[in-house]
Amino acid sequence: MSTTATELQTEVQRRRTFAIISHPDAGKTTLTEKLLLYGGAIRLAGTVKARKAAKHAVSDWMEIEKQRGISVTSSVLQFDYDGYRVNILDTPGHQDFSEDTYRTLMATDSAVMVIDVAKGVEDQTKKLFHVCRQRGIPIFTFVNKLDRHGKSPFELMEEIENVLGIRAYPMNWPVGVDGNYKGVYNRRLAQIELFESGGAHGQWVMPSTIGSAEDPAFAELLGTDVHNQLIEDIELLDMAGDQFDIEKVLKGELTPMFFGSALTNFGVRPFLEEFLQLAPAPLARRSVDGLVAPDDEGFTAFVFKIQANMNPTHRDRIAFIRICSGKFARGMSVKHVPSGKSVKLAQPQQFMAQERVIIDEAYPGDVIGLFDPGVFGIGDTLCVEGKNFQFEDFPVFPPEHFARVQPKDTMKRKQFVKGMTQLTQEGAVQVFRQPEIGVESFVVGAVGVLQMEVLEYRLKQEYGVDILMQHLPFSVARWLDGYDPGKPVKGLDSGMVIRDGKERPVALFRNEWSVRWAVEQNPQIRFLTVPER
Ligand code: GDP
Repeated sequence: MSTTATELQTEVQRRRTFAIISHPDAGKTTLTEKLLLYGGAIRLAGTVKARKAAKHAVSDWMEIEKQRGISVTSSVLQFDYDGYRVNILDTPGHQDFSEDTYRTLMATDSAVMVIDVAKGVEDQTKKLFHVCRQRGIPIFTFVNKLDRHGKSPFELMEEIENVLGIRAYPMNWPVGVDGNYKGVYNRRLAQIELFESGGAHGQWVMPSTIGSAEDPAFAELLGTDVHNQLIEDIELLDMAGDQFDIEKVLKGELTPMFFGSALTNFGVRPFLEEFLQLAPAPLARRSVDGLVAPDDEGFTAFVFKIQANMNPTHRDRIAFIRICSGKFARGMSVKHVPSGKSVKLAQPQQFMAQERVIIDEAYPGDVIGLFDPGVFGIGDTLCVEGKNFQFEDFPVFPPEHFARVQPKDTMKRKQFVKGMTQLTQEGAVQVFRQPEIGVESFVVGAVGVLQMEVLEYRLKQEYGVDILMQHLPFSVARWLDGYDPGKPVKGLDSGMVIRDGKERPVALFRNEWSVRWAVEQNPQIRFLTVPER
């Protein structure tokens, strides 16, 4: 094997690219920050949080971002740990929940699901979990806030199994009782690790004591009751719990479960170390011609996110690509498959939190931002020149918010259509057309409400069009298979069938109940949650 091939393989094998998913407030930001702290990427915890709080002060991005102090974008955080090159894909999670959150999951090789020990599995966690599950990527669970009162570990295991339908395998187990946790028991090593308390809210790496669970010193340290309880729990787990099976983990059928507290750092290092060992290196990707292995030497990548106008004075557009195979070198020319154009990748950027760094080379698993000359769209494939190659279609995510939009001033119709077309290409919202209405107005659909505001704002700022936006009382879309335009669909809330960007028929419903009603009334039609490829 040539040296470049070996180098490529080594670089692929040491990469771990993952996203952290959670419901707002479960502790995603805090955990991300602590991983950076342990990874040596920051010296003192507080930096990422400060960034979250001070965002409107430092960000020169979209005005809307400034006004609300939130991030409309997601970036990647990279650090080295123990020989691994770690890429954490930052998913916007909260009020600003949007399709970008889902799209980021298309670029990741595994996911860490953060769960609040008191609240258990929450709404947004469920949605994100299902997208990961559909992709069949491994999901790791970090139960957070163990410094507080919460549900028992057994209760949480059951909840994960019942609500999410995935078996959980505790990798470690909390030592101590509800709200008074002292450390974790590592099942693989049969070791207890006790954390020292104090330490200024986990600003620094936490000192700990490690030893065998059988060591009588621990019984003394913990008190007999706590120690006995631990031994009992472990026996029960070993007897009644699942076997650990890495194959099941990699297929997304079993989630390794960890306990800790991101705030006090307790359980963070054991989690990180075990996670890096178990999480997969960059995986092969499906293309229309079959799987592409990451150590295939021909460069391939796909666009999973487009961020427009990050700097309003330059009005630039950045396309984020995930590298899937081959080595990337600055200045290389690649083929943009949908247009057939050759694009020189002159100024590839890596986004470290708020800072942009120009990079010289990157490998599969890495994410880089490219200045977009206006050709890139979501899901586009890039590959070495001379190759004819395409990744499978990027999925469409079911929108849950709908509105009808039209220009206030009918004279601005041309700019309006142009703006809507370009913003759809960027994936800002999904656009539907109502055949009988034409391009006078569109129905737009989005995964998050904020996307609607961004649309309104950008049409005004960038295309000079004020719009009228009428929110529609629907929350479910179904793609219709077997629809005959000559025959009305019975029992539709809206009474109308609209068309998506590829002219496929779609019906909108108020809720799942009305969907079920329509399904019963129209046995000849299949109602699909997402369009068929
Ligand atoms: P995110 O919305 O998921 O990113 O959550 P954050 O990381 O911003 O955390 C939400 C709140 O929970 C903040 O006030 C954190 O300080 C707090 N928090 C995070 N982790 C822990 C933890 O382990 N223990 C406790 N007690 N609070 C935590």
